[in-house]
Amino acid sequence: MIQLVPEKCIGCKLCVKACLFGGIAVDGKVPRLTDSCTGCGACVDVCRVEAIIASGEKTGPVCDFAAYKGIWVFAEQHAGKLHSVTLELLGKARELADARSAEVTAVLLGSGIAALDGELFRHGADRVLLTDAPFLANYRTAPYERIVARLICEHKPEVILIGATTTGRDLAPRLANRLRTGLTADCTGLEIGPEGGLLQTRPAFGGNIMATIATPNHRPQMATVRPGVMQARLFENKKGETVRIAVSEEPGDGLVQILKTLAREKSSVSLEKAEVIVSGGRGMGEPKNFKLLENLAGLLSGEVGASRAAVDLGWMPHDHQVGQTGKTVKPRIYIACGISGAVQHLAGMQSSDIIIAINRDPAAPIFQAATFGMVGDALKIIPELISQLNANT
Ligand SMILES: Cc1cc2nc3c(=O)[nH]c(=O)nc-3n(C[C@H](O)[C@H](O)[C@H](O)COP(=O)(O)OP(=O)(O)OC[C@H]3O[C@@H](n4cnc5c(N)ncnc54)[C@H](O)[C@@H]3O)c2cc1C
Repeated sequence: MIQLVPEKCIGCKLCVKACLFGGIAVDGKVPRLTDSCTGCGACVDVCRVEAIIASGEKTGPVCDFAAYKGIWVFAEQHAGKLHSVTLELLGKARELADARSAEVTAVLLGSGIAALDGELFRHGADRVLLTDAPFLANYRTAPYERIVARLICEHKPEVILIGATTTGRDLAPRLANRLRTGLTADCTGLEIGPEGGLLQTRPAFGGNIMATIATPNHRPQMATVRPGVMQARLFENKKGETVRIAVSEEPGDGLVQILKTLAREKSSVSLEKAEVIVSGGRGMGEPKNFKLLENLAGLLSGEVGASRAAVDLGWMPHDHQVGQTGKTVKPRIYIACGISGAVQHLAGMQSSDIIIAINRDPAAPIFQAATFGMVGDALKIIPELISQLNANT
């Protein structure tokens, strides 16, 4: 906690400059904390006259950590089909649970979805908490939040993983707020730290740094992860326990009613599932050169991706964009053509099994991430690759 000693303040305002959050103001020589103060202590460090002091020890845990056990995954499903991110999260949850000698629990809500438990077990769950009721057929914020929060309060999981999907992005922050705990969104890495806490890594400051975030004082530890980031694992013949939870509709649940569901026009490109992606950036020079990428992708049974620069230039539609504000992909082979390798692009493709970079600048950052690199003009190299592939098929 930050404490001010106004009589010592000399009005230098170093603290105001040091605070990233606008958490302190100095009126004349009178310092005051604003609502934005996070208690980070940056102002304490810069104050030369001890007019700001950190009072007391760091805030300790606000709950009994020992009571929290197990790794949970919110099992997102639509119309009786599990979302791929659920299976990917179970793979990661299994790894985290093994490191904590704990169980993996999948929380499954919906209507007529009891048969999904087997798939959850085969992807790593030890237990499924199943709430199967007609009013849960479609995701609606109020009942889902109420029921999942109640289950969390009763069972006290240590970690909760949720897909960074439209549903997950609605549910996760509401749960975190209700439970008064932290939430790290769009994680790209999750691991158990030396003290047993969850270390949550994600791009920060526009993707320019990778930040590792911990939840030192609160439980549960909550994270969302985008589809395609983690790896699903299959445990053939694995079984588990299904616990049926009885629930009933409450008055607040009906505030939102679903009148009609319209299927979104399907994108013609399926980058998340592609085994091979041939991506182009600004270095492709002009839109017609993307035809070369289409030809190469066609020969490799792959899809065409693009950097944001190429999308912003209108050379490719947005649903082809790979990266922090595009899609996260993990193909077996990712071929980056005329792409510099900005962190925001890497954030979406660096988990690919093999990365082949084609760039005429040998110092382009993409080569740091590449498994194989070709330094040269993409407009000459790609036609050569196409003719070699044609010659060999
Ligand atoms: C908040 C935020 C989010 C972002 N999200 C994304 C995102 O999701 N995805 C994304 O891609 N970017 C994203 N960006 C933009 C990112 O920072 C870069 O600007 C972008 O990735 C650059 O695209 P590029 O590599 O195609 O273009 P450039 O950086 O201009 O690179 C072009 C490359 O092509 C090479 N080249 C030129 N001619 C040739 C040739 N004939 N043959 C071979 N190589 C050639 C050059 O040497 C250069 O390395 C984001 C930025 C911000 C701030």
